[in-house]
Amino acid sequence: MGDHEMDRITRKAYAKINLGLDVIRRRPDGYHEVKMIMQSVGIYDRLTFQRADWEGIRISLDHAELPCDQNNLIYKAAQLIMDAYGIKSGVEITLNKNIPIAAGMAGGSTDAAAVFHGLNELFGLGMSLQDMKEMGVKIGADVPYCIMGGTALSEGIGEILTPLSDPPDAHLLIAKPDINVSTKFVYENLHADTLTDHPDIDGMVKALNEGNLKGITDRMGNVLETVTVKEYPIIDRIKKEMLSGGAENALMSGSGPTVFGIYKEKKAAEKCCEAIREQGLAGQIFVTEFVKNGNKTEVQEG
Ligand code: ATP
Repeated sequence: MGDHEMDRITRKAYAKINLGLDVIRRRPDGYHEVKMIMQSVGIYDRLTFQRADWEGIRISLDHAELPCDQNNLIYKAAQLIMDAYGIKSGVEITLNKNIPIAAGMAGGSTDAAAVFHGLNELFGLGMSLQDMKEMGVKIGADVPYCIMGGTALSEGIGEILTPLSDPPDAHLLIAKPDINVSTKFVYENLHADTLTDHPDIDGMVKALNEGNLKGITDRMGNVLETVTVKEYPIIDRIKKEMLSGGAENALMSGSGPTVFGIYKEKKAAEKCCEAIREQGLAGQIFVTEFVKNGNKTEVQEG
């Protein structure tokens, strides 16, 4: 439940990483069939929703690179919901952006997901999680997952979701080098039928259910690295830095270029953060943790 204050609601929209990402095949319609382990992490955007006495949708945001118009996924989600429910009242949505952009962290998708929760509450629409997920997939394949959050197995094009146990406690270092990677470019250059090295996603599901951190970190793998790392070797340098700095393992998230490392000791993650900063390998870097539960129990605003 968001922060309730008359006609105004605030929500956190969490970023995700992929603990594992496999592509099963390219479908004849061009979509890729995936098998991914999604995990919410403690990097979030903040969205505020407010009723207005004019009609329509207005977005104000604090980031120069992002559109305020129909091209923003926030706008698309709001429009879809307001059309479906015939909402005549206007809405003002404010975005404080903190999640790296074009990073492989589902920043746009999680903002769209927050719109479903936010408008559901603001206008008392009574949408269930299932209702929201079914509408959300029209905005993007990762939106249904972002609506639920937490830890999940994602299959199909991303719309078949199975909630999983939270991972054991650990510390995360998340670093985005100063390059922008287009998800479209990565998938177009992936040769799904020639992949020989597939991560053991089923084994990771089992390790998650057993609460076995080593079982999880031993199985981290992302087939999209075959495309993105070849194009941007800096990703490999960051991974090596994390591994030599004591990470249990390190991996690129989604289509990249963000890299995350999983650490048992917070001090090691912090020390490694400094080293990566000093070498100028990452423009944005965070020490954080997994976000547990997701919307199985509603995320508390705080
Ligand atoms: P994914 O992990 O789903 O591939 P991503 O992290 O690679 O996502 P995003 O940051 O979600 O990429 O968005 C990429 C592009 O989408 C941006 O360049 C931006 O122009 C557009 N976009 C539209 N709405 C948003 C939004 N609310 N936040 C971020 N990007 C948005």
